[in-house]
Amino acid sequence: MSSRHIALALAVIGVLASSAIAQDQPITIKAAAAFDGRGRVVPDAIVTVQRGRIVGIATGGAAPATYDLRGLTLLPGLIDTHVHLDTHFGKDGRAESKGETPSQSILYEAENAYVTLMAGFTTVQSIGSPLDVDVRAAIARGVLAGPRLLTSIRPVNENTGTPDEIRAFVRKLKADGADLVKLFASKSSREGGTQTMTDEQVAAACGEAKSLRLRTWVHAHSPSSIRAAVNGGCSVVTHGSQATAQELQLMASRGVYFEPNIGLVSQNYLENRSHYVGIGNFDDQGFAFTEKSIPMKLAMFKNALKVTGLKLIMGTDAGAGAHGRNAEEIIYRVQIGSQPAAAALAGATSLNAQSIELRDRIGAIAAGLDADLIAVAGDPLTDITALRRVVFVMKNGVVYKNVAPRRP
Ligand SMILES: [Zn+2]
Repeated sequence: MSSRHIALALAVIGVLASSAIAQDQPITIKAAAAFDGRGRVVPDAIVTVQRGRIVGIATGGAAPATYDLRGLTLLPGLIDTHVHLDTHFGKDGRAESKGETPSQSILYEAENAYVTLMAGFTTVQSIGSPLDVDVRAAIARGVLAGPRLLTSIRPVNENTGTPDEIRAFVRKLKADGADLVKLFASKSSREGGTQTMTDEQVAAACGEAKSLRLRTWVHAHSPSSIRAAVNGGCSVVTHGSQATAQELQLMASRGVYFEPNIGLVSQNYLENRSHYVGIGNFDDQGFAFTEKSIPMKLAMFKNALKVTGLKLIMGTDAGAGAHGRNAEEIIYRVQIGSQPAAAALAGATSLNAQSIELRDRIGAIAAGLDADLIAVAGDPLTDITALRRVVFVMKNGVVYKNVAPRRP
């Protein structure tokens, strides 16, 4: 090695060392208030972060902070338990990926990951696509800006096979690195939502997943498909648009999480009708059903709010056209669904973290947790639309967005 190379090598080591030292220094963030994700509001908050973790949260003193977010509200990074990060409008504006190269498809997914992070979502669960696996790895390496990503890779449905074949399919998912298992236990709501998998198929998938310590997310619209999921020992029911008081009560009593999607997914299909029409079941009849389903889901959600002990988590089912607008689900639940803002925010933070079994790492502003923090302009507890104004995003102690106005 020449002396020039040695000097260069030492210079590189120097830069690496100084950035490592810089990261070791505590970072402080000051805000008008912090909602900690678990129901506590800390006024005049100061949060200390070191080595990617939250060290503490307190009511601030006069000392200057690394990030002065006066006038803003600090929240834990938001979590969406149900997105389809691979879905996008392609070159011709259609909501399908026909004729795309794999690199084009994965770049669309990277774009969706980026806009989702910029919207304040620091963790999402993609339900799910094989593309997620490489995107998850790139985000985890820190080379791609996106939310912490969990994926189900491939779904289980009525055609996966016999209960034994389904168990083998679930073991293969585990071997391929799935974080959870997605089941389609009913038809799409656009096709009436009737049960598709048998009770035995559902129980086989959820039983095998549980033995492998994998969570299960069950797409279920009709009452019987919801009951099959609960009785089959599954973790979460998603959609549940036709849930009656009986199924809502059953989920609550058995501790099954419920993830209704009432404020973004259907509205997005209608707003982007021209991008979807003619693809699969997106026909006139399907759209007519989508229109009808919005008030139906709202009524179901209002019934769900009355059920004591029902764990209502926040997943959007975001697809093409909805990425980066995930908070609209929370806003709708509060403004139209009359859910108290604190409960809706807990649903998207601490309760969501619990549902994905990451409560020891994320979902709250508390000492020891990963430093996933966002700041919004305004107070979301009194004006939930503040979630549309995300001006600061930190994930694992790294700032990905900071467009907060500079203060003198
Ligand atoms: Zn979905």
